[in-house]
Amino acid sequence: MVTATFRFYEELNDFLARPLRRQSFSCACARDATAKHMIEALGVPHTEVELILVNGESVGFDHPLKDGDRVAVYPKFEALDIRPLLRVRERPLRVLRFIADAHLGGLAQLLRLAGFDTLYDNHYADARIEALALDEARIVLTRDRELLKRRTITHGCYVRALKPEAQLREIFRRLDLGSSAHPFRLCLTCNVPLRRISKDEAVGRAPEGVLERHSQFVTCDVCRRVFWEGSHWKRMRALMDSVTDGATDHVKDSAKRR
Ligand SMILES: [Zn+2]
Repeated sequence: MVTATFRFYEELNDFLARPLRRQSFSCACARDATAKHMIEALGVPHTEVELILVNGESVGFDHPLKDGDRVAVYPKFEALDIRPLLRVRERPLRVLRFIADAHLGGLAQLLRLAGFDTLYDNHYADARIEALALDEARIVLTRDRELLKRRTITHGCYVRALKPEAQLREIFRRLDLGSSAHPFRLCLTCNVPLRRISKDEAVGRAPEGVLERHSQFVTCDVCRRVFWEGSHWKRMRALMDSVTDGATDHVKDSAKRR
């Protein structure tokens, strides 16, 4: 047996048993246990971890723990610059794509609204989510920490908020999505790009009154529905502006110029 001392920082404490939060504690580890093995055994999904220091040196997930090691575990940082230190993942995912678990249908729709390719199906089993995340390099979004402990899931987010809009704000803040958002690009139902169509093409597919009042239309080539900038669009626009904090102004401006 090996005994190491652990200290978890910031929101990682939420995953620990109450007596272990926000303080150093000793823990017996199996011989040959790795940092990742012990962190997950204590209840913290490895996908939530950004940096591990053992005796002050940054290490990877596979680092074997020795007797007397002092292990400090940090979440994804928002403000503190840790670039000089080795992060546990070599490089971030280049294109941000998501897969949401069965309980996050509302969040999945809002991420699509913001332009992020997000798979969602309330019949996905955990093994299917794991396979899709690996094959398509998708970030797993879930409120099930057991799912994030699966071996091949390398990028995941444990969603803390309960309501879709709050979840969207949380994910935007934690993954710094504001500058990558591209609202009104995808069909909220089908997760595929929308296509601009002429008013003539919209005839017979949108109500007469709408055709009189609007000149811009888009359609989804999968579900064949037609969309326009009506009152629902205005509510969605306000939500997008509030989460992106003006970061998509350039998108709006270029849309106006077209
Ligand atoms: Zn569609």
